[in-house]
Amino acid sequence: MTLRFAPPTNPTFTPDARIAEINIDPGFGQFFSDHMALADWNSETGWTNDRITAYGLLPMEPAGAVLHYAQEVFEGLKAYRHADGSVWLFRPDANARRLQESSRRMALPVLPVDDFLTSVHNLVALDERWVPHAAEQSLYIRPFIIANESFLGVRSAHDVIYCCITGPVGAYFKGGVQPVDIWVSRQYSRVANGGTGTAKCGGNYASSLLAQEVAYANGCSQVLFTDNAEHEFVEELGGMNFLLLTKDGELVTPPLNGNILPGITRDSLLKLAPLLGLTPVERPTRIADVYDGITAGDIVELLACGTAAVITPVGSLRDSETNTVYRPLRPEAPQGIALRNLLLDIQYGRVADPFGWTERVV
Ligand SMILES: *Cc1c(COP(=O)(O)O)cnc(C)c1O
Repeated sequence: MTLRFAPPTNPTFTPDARIAEINIDPGFGQFFSDHMALADWNSETGWTNDRITAYGLLPMEPAGAVLHYAQEVFEGLKAYRHADGSVWLFRPDANARRLQESSRRMALPVLPVDDFLTSVHNLVALDERWVPHAAEQSLYIRPFIIANESFLGVRSAHDVIYCCITGPVGAYFKGGVQPVDIWVSRQYSRVANGGTGTAKCGGNYASSLLAQEVAYANGCSQVLFTDNAEHEFVEELGGMNFLLLTKDGELVTPPLNGNILPGITRDSLLKLAPLLGLTPVERPTRIADVYDGITAGDIVELLACGTAAVITPVGSLRDSETNTVYRPLRPEAPQGIALRNLLLDIQYGRVADPFGWTERVV
């Protein structure tokens, strides 16, 4: 049965003046718009009770399964305001499909792509006034699915909630894009072979947080994880994919090896690279070769990418075993920034969309 996610009959909205005040400096993930989309799933009935309601508390008992066994998946995408006032999504079908893949891995029910898209479109259209107007600001959209059966037995839950919330977000980095310093963790792993690395799930984040604390303590702001078996090959950051640029114009990123999240930004950059004369390459990359390549001047830029921060130049890598710092020739990553600007120009409708990635909401 097709879900409708009909808007409430009498929605209430935060006054426009208050939204304008919030949107001066919304930060990231601090403010939420007026409504949320919800649907219930039960193993007998399937998806039911789809609705859009006021943003508020979820019905959950302390025995709710997600609180104990972390059966959960989520997505992250954005709605962008174009100069003419219209509001657009970027590749939302890719998020819908990835949520399905994540759900399969976490033994959660699969939400049909069209139902996902309906929920996002209707919710963003209803709360359209929350989509910021300033450059690099957007409405962040967070769909998620959680096990909500009140039962402590260990099996996949028979009651599940789909929910989607949104909120305005600013430029991820205040005061312009600054290169970030990265801690290369050769001690902790966030995912394991045969584990949940390709699923976008909260558990992967929980297992990355201690390494993140260690990174902070060492003056770094993010962690680059290496493979869990030998800690020899580069994988990705806690929530962003990793790329590097060679002096020959290759844009290199590790292949999706079962432990790397298939980022939509990653995929988009690989497809955009040729438009800027770069050659996209997916190949397994040893961390030792990254260090050697930086030292020899063969690797000239390091980049991290994801929906939240788009592309971030990596200014340095610090190895957790040797404590050695490696700085690429161009820490500001000018080519990476050119890719970033191209992607943003497409998302904000400032240039033609060569791949038909954007779709209009209102
Ligand atoms: C979400 C996420 C990314 C980035 O994916 P995008 O689709 O580009 O936002 C990368 N790595 C991890 C672990 C993630 O959860």
